[in-house]
Amino acid sequence: MKIRGLVKSFEPYRVLEGNYKIWLDKNENPFDLPPEIKEEIFEELRKTPFNRYPHITAMPLREAIAEFYGLNPENVAVGNGGDELLSYLTRLFKGDYIVTTPPTFGMYYFYAKLNEIPVVEVPLDESFTINGDMIAEKAKKASIVFITSPNNPTGNTQPREEILKVLDTGVTVVLDEAYAEFSGKSCIDLLDKYENLIILRTFSKAFSLAGARAGYLLADEEIINAFYRIKSPFSLNSLTMITAKVMLNHYDVVMERVNYIIKERERIYKKFKDYAYPSEANFLLMRLDAYEFLLEKGIVVRKLGGQLKEHIRVTIGKREENDELINALKEFLEGDY
Ligand SMILES: *Cc1c(COP(=O)(O)O)cnc(C)c1O
Repeated sequence: MKIRGLVKSFEPYRVLEGNYKIWLDKNENPFDLPPEIKEEIFEELRKTPFNRYPHITAMPLREAIAEFYGLNPENVAVGNGGDELLSYLTRLFKGDYIVTTPPTFGMYYFYAKLNEIPVVEVPLDESFTINGDMIAEKAKKASIVFITSPNNPTGNTQPREEILKVLDTGVTVVLDEAYAEFSGKSCIDLLDKYENLIILRTFSKAFSLAGARAGYLLADEEIINAFYRIKSPFSLNSLTMITAKVMLNHYDVVMERVNYIIKERERIYKKFKDYAYPSEANFLLMRLDAYEFLLEKGIVVRKLGGQLKEHIRVTIGKREENDELINALKEFLEGDY
């Protein structure tokens, strides 16, 4: 038996045991769906035949997303979470390598390595901003350039003029906007002009549906068609499709929570300004080596590695959870650990 080597820089997933009270490690929404919306979903599910395969091209959900953005369903693809979409995108285009901009989301690197596709890294500058000119230099031989805005784990958005420099080379750009609802910034308006732009979104963060697994792409029709030619046909199940569609009709609830999370984020940021980086997402990057200390307090955050070792990424939770985090971090700082 020969097993493909593990991807080196991808730390084995640490399964945490013990009685942790507060989970601020995965950038989830701290709020589950309101009971009335759950009931509405259950009503829809009751009408759904469980014995049938889901719609093969997921048209009902694609139409709903298209209507939401004023696009055509032919410009929308949906999949089993953003991660599944990324795994297909990595393989869809030809080229010598993919380009990533570390420190950023690890899944681009993960899927490239898994598919034995080389990765060229064009690091972010000291303020975690992309350098459009440097990326453009690598564009010619690249299959895809991944840009993340707001970026995970740093929380900042990327300047439009830098993104434009990359788009103008004609290389396929996957612009990962998983946290765009929190920043209020998007490049969706550029889809009209750039056939090489693919925008990735997810229902996992602002829409509170991390457990349901749904993400979508917005792009030129030709890319969407190509995507459906390689996609596993039934990976987005009918239950999730219905759930996501119902949530699109409750954008007011989504935005109410987004605003709550933004307020809480700023409250925490102000208290730890010397250690936290400004964020336009639902988390904060902090230059505090407090991972183990917080675990002992029952608070789980994300430990980071590489150039961000001794940093933590903290998801914004509910007010009470954030209070506990604030108190624990104050104690950590006073103790001078
Ligand atoms: C969370 C996240 C995604 C997608 O997550 P899914 O749950 O798989 O939809 C994509 N990109 C970034 C940067 C993320 O943080």
